[in-house]
Amino acid sequence: MSLCLICHRTPDPARTACQPCEATLRALLLEVDAQRPLLAASLYLGAAPAGGRVTGGGRAHSPLPVRGHVLTLLAAGTLDAVTGPRADQSGDVPLDTLLAGWAAAVANDLVGPGAVPFRRRGMTWATWLAAYMPHVVTASWVGAFHTELDDLVRRIRAVTTTEPRRNAMQAPCPSCMAFALGRTDWQTYIDCEACGTLLTPAEYDAHRATVMPPLARIGVLIAAHTHLTREAS
Ligand SMILES: [Zn+2]
Ligand SMILES: [Zn+2]
Repeated sequence: MSLCLICHRTPDPARTACQPCEATLRALLLEVDAQRPLLAASLYLGAAPAGGRVTGGGRAHSPLPVRGHVLTLLAAGTLDAVTGPRADQSGDVPLDTLLAGWAAAVANDLVGPGAVPFRRRGMTWATWLAAYMPHVVTASWVGAFHTELDDLVRRIRAVTTTEPRRNAMQAPCPSCMAFALGRTDWQTYIDCEACGTLLTPAEYDAHRATVMPPLARIGVLIAAHTHLTREAS
């Protein structure tokens, strides 16, 4: 039985990345596109967004100096095979070059050596890769893909100073009963930080509807009991 090449925990003979790690990859790809406008807004010195807001503008006289590493990140992507599972990846690579390289790796696996991935007009490489996720999670290179994508998103977050937020959920986890369920920005699933269980929003809603009314009743009983005990003493 083979272990997931990303978390090295969950075994799954049919794939190289487990379902929770697939959710992570999808969330990272969504975040790349969601962060792109903030990245563009951070291109000029003194224009770094703080918490999603663009601050420090208003220098209207001369063009502001461009931040080199942001310019590199946003540079147009090429398919020069500088990335991908066989490439020696080092230094700053434009985000589109990095993602296009992995799209080329998908095309290489599915079509053959040298195949050029086709991308519809207006489609981003992140959306393209998300569409080919069923192949990505069976590829031998999924671990390297995750490492590079994670590193890319960290580089972007460092520029935009925008981190995904986690919203805690009210109901306890249906698997381990810990109050550790939450949903992080860009994630499609609600996950348990304690045991890694994943729930779709619909599954969580159904679970919450069954588990919360009895829990609320117990809470009321405990409060009433505490009150009565205090009255009696
Ligand atoms: Zn995994
Ligand atoms: Zn759990």
